Amino acid sequence: MSNITFTMIKPDAVANGHTGKIIDHVINAGYKIKAMKYLWLTKEQAGQFYAVHIERPFYNDLVSFMSSGPIVAAVLEKANAVADFRIVIGATDPQKADAGTIRQLYAKSIDANAVHGSDSDENAAIESSFFFNSFERF
Ligand code: UDP
Ligand code: MG
Repeated sequence: MSNITFTMIKPDAVANGHTGKIIDHVINAGYKIKAMKYLWLTKEQAGQFYAVHIERPFYNDLVSFMSSGPIVAAVLEKANAVADFRIVIGATDPQKADAGTIRQLYAKSIDANAVHGSDSDENAAIESSFFFNSFERF
C-alpha cells in the first residue's frame, strides 16, 4: 500500500472559484501536499493523460473539457492515500456523491465533476510522473 495519490482540480472548479476551498478541504482531510502545479493542458496532453479511457463514449468530450481551462495538479500524501481520497471526493456523478464530499459540494455534473482522484497505487505513480519529476524529493 502506497501513501501517495494524485489529484487535479478540474477546469470547472477552477473557473468557478473553488480552488482555495478544495485545497483547504484536502488539507483538512489529512493530506500533505507534496507537489502542486497550476497549468492549462493542451488537448494532446489531456488525451494522453486519459488514454486509459480512449474506448469510452465520453472520451472526446472529456479531453475537450480537461483542456478547456486551467487546472491544478497535485501529489498528495497520507496513509491509505488512494482509497481514502476516493471517499473524500465522492462518486463520479455528483448527484450520487455523499454529503460533504468534494464532488457533492463543488461539482454540477458527471463530466464536469470538480476533481480527479487516482484509482490505484500504480496509477497514482503514473499520473504523478505525468506532471512532476522526482516528486518524492519534495
Ligand atoms: N466521465 C464522464 N462521463 C461518464 C463517466 C466519466 O464524462 O459517464 C468523466 C468524468 O470527468 C470522470 C472521468 O471521465 O471523472 C473519468 O472517469 P472515471 O470512470 O475514471 O471516474 P472517476 O475515477 O474520475 O470517478
Ligand atoms: Mg478514474
